[in-house]
Amino acid sequence: MRLAQGPLHFPEERMNEQTVHLKAAITTPPSTLNTRQTSASVAGPATSPAQRQVCQRCVMDSSAENIRFDANGVCHFCRDFLQKQTPVLDKSDASRSAETRELIDRIKSAGRRKRYDCVVGVSGGIDSSYVLHLAVEHGLRPLAVHMDNNWNSEAAANNIKNLVTRLGVDLYTHVIEWQCYRSLLQAFLDADVVDIELLYDNASQGVVYRQAKKHGIRHMLMGFNAATEGLMLPRGWRHFKWDLRNMRDIARSGSATTRKFPGIGIWRRLYYHKVCRMQQVRLLNYVEFNKSQALELLEERYDYKRYQYKHYESILTRFYQGYLLPVKFGIDKRRVHASTLIMTGEMTRAEALEMLESPAYDPAEIERDRKYFVKKMGWTENQLDDYLARPPRSHDEFRSDGPLWTKMRQLRGR
Ligand SMILES: [Zn+2]
Repeated sequence: MRLAQGPLHFPEERMNEQTVHLKAAITTPPSTLNTRQTSASVAGPATSPAQRQVCQRCVMDSSAENIRFDANGVCHFCRDFLQKQTPVLDKSDASRSAETRELIDRIKSAGRRKRYDCVVGVSGGIDSSYVLHLAVEHGLRPLAVHMDNNWNSEAAANNIKNLVTRLGVDLYTHVIEWQCYRSLLQAFLDADVVDIELLYDNASQGVVYRQAKKHGIRHMLMGFNAATEGLMLPRGWRHFKWDLRNMRDIARSGSATTRKFPGIGIWRRLYYHKVCRMQQVRLLNYVEFNKSQALELLEERYDYKRYQYKHYESILTRFYQGYLLPVKFGIDKRRVHASTLIMTGEMTRAEALEMLESPAYDPAEIERDRKYFVKKMGWTENQLDDYLARPPRSHDEFRSDGPLWTKMRQLRGR
């Protein structure tokens, strides 16, 4: 990683060069996602994209309601990234390999005489696929665990199959009953809350924890990492991911139930961590993780098929991030991903601004996904347009364990 060559600074000359592109970005209207977008009233931030202030160093802008700029026009998201992630990303090779060796020894020792020594949650995306590859490279004996919410793309299913077959790793797949998932998703959509992916993100964690517990495994290797996901998400762009209480209340409001849903709340998580001494390991923070190089390796060794954009291994995620979020909530998550890559030197700001000018994905594919979504949910086109036109509501209008979790963290001094 380029960070390793020195502290994270933003060179003045790059700042000047990029200011030119910034002006272009501010004056150019954003391309529309598709023609229907104009027919649905766009909610989200009150300002139009052309009026928003864009950070001079990354590409975060005032569509993030809590963004703060300093006197140089640099935002607090990338300032925070430097402060928090530099110690993780800017390590010497020697300390990296010593820490990795110590970690691997610890995992092997805790898993001795067990069939597996770690669990790796796999989605079919680059990060988790690369974690599984690394685990085997380091001589670990992982159980791969996948949660299928019925929205996997064919490419994702093939990528997972190729990976586990070639690595000789056992795979456990938990398929959520479609009627259960559909009714929960319907309740979330009816509630007009921003984080409909809370369902997937929480349940996939729930399945990983349960499998780890079942096999007596203490270490769960996660794909989350500072190099591609280290920039914090703005307030209101997602919800607290362990909030099973919030999910239950939203489900109740739509006459759905979480009874067959493999979710995990704060109490069960505390039990797993404190009583069972289980822990999550961010393996990619131990290595010099470069997304492009990881992708090339996966393609070469496992016949991995790339997706157009991060997290597009799921059709729902693709449609949500690329269409529902920008149109209904005025949120373009690519800003966060691109800003992270700018900070780690994997992308220039000019490249990011150019990328943000284009639709989140191919407009013809968006149209196909619209039809697919409407049919799968049993909706009409009008129902989708109504959903897009309704104003968003906050997760805080429903019961939540978020405030309690915050208090618990404060008590622990974190
Ligand atoms: Zn910034």
